[in-house]
Amino acid sequence: MTGDETASSTAKQLQDVTPLPDLSHGRPRAGLVRTRRPVYVDLLPPCNSGCPAGENIQAWLAHATAGRHEQAWRQLIADNPFAAIHGRVCYHPCETVCNRAHLDSAVSIHSVERFLGDLAREQGWMFDPPPVRSGRRVLIVGAGPSGLSAAYHLARLGHEVEIRDAGAEPGGMMRYGIPNYRLPRDVLEVELSRIAALGVQLTCGHRVEDLAAERDEGRFDAVFVAVGAHLAKRVDIPATDAGTMVDAVSFLRSVASGEKPSIGRHVAVYGGGNTAMDAARVARRLGADDAVIVYRRTREQMPAHEEEAEEAEREGVRINWLRTITAFDGPERRSRSWNSTSRVTHGRPGGSRH
Ligand SMILES: Cc1cc2nc3c(=O)[nH]c(=O)nc-3n(C[C@H](O)[C@H](O)[C@H](O)COP(=O)(O)OP(=O)(O)OC[C@H]3O[C@@H](n4cnc5c(N)ncnc54)[C@H](O)[C@@H]3O)c2cc1C
Ligand code: SF4
Repeated sequence: MTGDETASSTAKQLQDVTPLPDLSHGRPRAGLVRTRRPVYVDLLPPCNSGCPAGENIQAWLAHATAGRHEQAWRQLIADNPFAAIHGRVCYHPCETVCNRAHLDSAVSIHSVERFLGDLAREQGWMFDPPPVRSGRRVLIVGAGPSGLSAAYHLARLGHEVEIRDAGAEPGGMMRYGIPNYRLPRDVLEVELSRIAALGVQLTCGHRVEDLAAERDEGRFDAVFVAVGAHLAKRVDIPATDAGTMVDAVSFLRSVASGEKPSIGRHVAVYGGGNTAMDAARVARRLGADDAVIVYRRTREQMPAHEEEAEEAEREGVRINWLRTITAFDGPERRSRSWNSTSRVTHGRPGGSRH
């Protein structure tokens, strides 16, 4: 085909292309015409809805990417006052739902959050005081992350807030559950002190027993109860001597309070959750030669996050999958020097209720 012939054939093809329908009017037409136009909707990315703290991740990441770090931190703390804490201990469900994970790997939201939280500590950035005072008083019972976050948001709205907590120090499970190698206490202190600087009054060592009486006596307009769930899961293991069995929450609490519980050289931890991983790692740090986690299901079924299990294993914690504990008895304890549990029956998948 000559050049002229090619040009005329292309022109003919173009002429043959069915003309695009005129969609600018709503009149019905005969034949197969497209009557609907695509509608573009500006939706939030999945990370925002994946974040339990309700952060506007997309907005603060945009500031951080542009190098506007203080603005990024201020955008972040509009929803969550604990950037440095969450940047360390949050299990980052935002990354689990990240669209980018389908291409290569999720955006490292958690690490950027930690970076911003640490930068705020270094720079001494503080929360802005409330522009107006509402004249309303709120009592919050419990100074864990829930009570403290509520206090922060209420104080920023101008309300007068008082928190009363039964513990010796504020923080709830952030202080008395999560071990300090995962959440250093100086990081916790800085983020708590910012809330106090907003004018939130904090009374520790005060267990609220009669809520209505305290509300009336303090002339509070509202009360927020954030007492957490401090009860450990109970397991039903027959024991001849239960003196050396302790639940993980009490064990971690006593270590966090500065005690040094005597745990012996061999420690067994029963359960496959994050608390079990923490207890086993703390036992190793307290000097146990052997810390073994006994879990009745498989690795895939454990409630602990995979990275928690990997870190525990890296620190020398052994994990016995598909095992259960049937009894705790004195002789076994003496012969194997296990302090927190006893005989393990091997090879009983799912054989226990726990
Ligand atoms: C070992 C362990 C490790 C964990 N690790 C993580 C982690 O890495 N990442 C994560 O996201 N979550 C983790 N969690 C879970 C997290 O700590 C909790 O979900 C969180 O602390 C719950 O916050 P909260 O404010 O509801 O309750 P809490 O933190 O339990 O705080 C409740 C507060 O209420 C006070 N209180 C109770 N009763 C009264 C009363 N009658 N009067 C006055 N005060 C009272 C208590 O003293 C306490 O300070 C962990 C939990 C444990 C146990
Ligand atoms: S890591 Fe931060 S942004 Fe992600 S879910 Fe946790 S608190 Fe939200």
